[in-house]
Amino acid sequence: MKQSILIVDDQPANLVALESVLMQLDVEVIQATSGQAALTILLKQAVAVALLDVQMPGMDGFEVATLMRQRNKTRHIPIIFLTAINKDEEYVFKGYESGGVDFIFKPFDPHVLVSKVRIFLELDQRQRQLEEALHRLDQLKTSNEVLLRSVGEGIIGVSADGSITFVNPAVEAILSFSSAELIGTQIYKSVIVSAQQSERPDWEQSRIFKACVSGTPYHTDVGVFRTGGNRVIPVEYTSSPMHSPTGKFDGVVIVFKDITERRKIEEKLNYMAQYDALTGLGNRNLFSNALNNAIAQSRHTQNPFALLFLDLDRFKQVNDTLGHDAGDLLLKDVAGRIRNCIRDADVLCRIGGDEFTLIIAGAAIEIAAQRVSEKLISELSRSFEIYEQEIYVGGSIGIVYYPEMGADANELIKNADMAMYQAKHEGRNRFKVFDPNMRAQIEETMALEVELRRAVESMDFFVHYQPKYDMIDGSIIGVEALIRWRVGDRMISPAAFIPIAEETGLISSIGRWVFEASCSQLRAWDQKFHLPDGFRVSVNMSVQQLHDPLLVNMVHRIIDQCGFSHGLMEIEITESLFFERTQEAVSRLESLRRLGVGIALDDFGTGYSSLSYLTKLPLTVLKIDKAFVDEIQTQQGIAIISAVVALARGLNIDVIAEGVETEDQVDRLVQLGCRFAQGYFFNRPLSVEALDTLFSEKFELRNA
Ligand code: C2E
Ligand code: MG
Ligand code: MG
Repeated sequence: MKQSILIVDDQPANLVALESVLMQLDVEVIQATSGQAALTILLKQAVAVALLDVQMPGMDGFEVATLMRQRNKTRHIPIIFLTAINKDEEYVFKGYESGGVDFIFKPFDPHVLVSKVRIFLELDQRQRQLEEALHRLDQLKTSNEVLLRSVGEGIIGVSADGSITFVNPAVEAILSFSSAELIGTQIYKSVIVSAQQSERPDWEQSRIFKACVSGTPYHTDVGVFRTGGNRVIPVEYTSSPMHSPTGKFDGVVIVFKDITERRKIEEKLNYMAQYDALTGLGNRNLFSNALNNAIAQSRHTQNPFALLFLDLDRFKQVNDTLGHDAGDLLLKDVAGRIRNCIRDADVLCRIGGDEFTLIIAGAAIEIAAQRVSEKLISELSRSFEIYEQEIYVGGSIGIVYYPEMGADANELIKNADMAMYQAKHEGRNRFKVFDPNMRAQIEETMALEVELRRAVESMDFFVHYQPKYDMIDGSIIGVEALIRWRVGDRMISPAAFIPIAEETGLISSIGRWVFEASCSQLRAWDQKFHLPDGFRVSVNMSVQQLHDPLLVNMVHRIIDQCGFSHGLMEIEITESLFFERTQEAVSRLESLRRLGVGIALDDFGTGYSSLSYLTKLPLTVLKIDKAFVDEIQTQQGIAIISAVVALARGLNIDVIAEGVETEDQVDRLVQLGCRFAQGYFFNRPLSVEALDTLFSEKFELRNA
């Protein structure tokens, strides 16, 4: 912006002359012809210098000057008086007294005029620059203050000797200290918690000082600051050096952030990466770390430890029949029960759907591991209540010891898995300590599985039938169908392949095939012989088949197709711990019973059926297991068989003994009130041809 000069003279000619001279200065020249007019202009406009004519009508120049000096706005404007008269001292003095800075006498020398005015313009220019600079400084100051006040980060000024000189309001808020409490204190005493807690580092030994004094900032995101109320918080901070204008190290500025929230999130993420959200147990990651730790620890202490692999036995079924929510609830309960069996120091993890691992260390590790396994198995055998349903699952456990059974984590895991697989294979609900021969056994079962799948494709099986006798009159009352499988010239026992069939789901097609074969066999016998009333063919049925919603229809259809007039079909269900005690299974049994199918409880006495539960099942027969028949000479054997006989009588159903091998057993069974039996004493399971011969002796031929 151009500078302005005000010229005041009552003679317009003078004004013109003045202006023409001043033009060369590149300024704006403002004219006024009276003192009054001049004052009015000055109210509105700032000028760099005013040239005032002294002799003017009305208000003279001195008066104008005096008034200007009285007003704030015009007080500092330099005034040069223009006068033709009186160079005498008193006059000049009056002029200076009224605020003038110089005189120019008329007729003026243009050169003098210009050079004098130029000086004042120059002064005004400087003044303006100074004011501007001051204004900018002021602005900067306010904006810096605003910044310091409003930033979320805490800002602490620290002097070269380590004491606090400044804190912004965020510091007070974050650390809950007032600035008065902090200022003047040593930063390491009041705020920073040092890693070397014991020997509080003195300022000059601190990393902050060492870095900053050499001119580099120091940053950490794992700092810890003290807060009022004796707490500490995690912080991230940067301290930057400050230098005086001469370049001397003048202290540091620490800018920090409270990272408690971020830490919490990090911890949560970390937790999530290590723990299973459903059960709160460690997950696969944590397990893998824990196992490696255990190995390192064991190498160091020379003490062995045990790794247990636990897999639930019937989890998939629960998931499939009751849904995943039920499965989740079950897993939670299972985790709770397992937790109750172990000590705090043991590491329990869930590494997959229904797979749990347990690492236990300590003295007498083998005894401890087996004891814990027994406890776990018995805990998991108890019923679970999910959605008001009683559910039985059970678990199988594989055990390995380090270092004996694996040199590293991978080998331990592989071997524990193998032992667990073997435990499942031997009938589940048990534990198995790894032994090197297992590999061969497992390879064998796997090969068998392949063979079995092949056999199922062409139903490459046949059925033998074992006759059942009435021991009082020696008559045959029925037969039990037992599946047979020949691979090459080797017979494979159903005890070996039925569990594989159950595990692989092949059982439902095998079961259907056996039922169909037995039915048409019954029809063939019915057509050929006069079978006695109540003659029955019993077929073993895996509990797993009871889950099949199509089972009842299938049985119905097959019986219809066969259309025999005498005799009936019976199914044998093994009484085992895994007996599915769901309403679904019971009602399926009831439907089968309504079709006229008899229902026998096989291997009775070896499972865990509660007596009250027995009364809810639509049973027609109890089969006393061979184990009790074998013990019939002992007190206990007698007691058990008598009890079963009495129970059957009470339930108004039949009782039959299986595995009868001697005449003595026959006599004793009859004495104890058991009339029916099957076993090698009478017949082994027989081929159809052999039975033809037997039946021909026992029954009348129809077309004879
Ligand atoms: P189970 O139903 O308890 O059958 C009795 C088993 O004892 C049969 O063995 C039979 O041959 C055998 N046995 C009969 N009398 C005697 C005896 O006096 N002494 C001895 N030591 N054993 C005797 P097998 O045929 O090897 O069958 C074993 C098991 O396999 C059966 O036990 C049954 O649970 C299962 N099984 C057999 N066939 C089938 C089938 O078609 N379907 C299903 N799901 N399971 C079957
Ligand atoms: Mg049976
Ligand atoms: Mg049996």
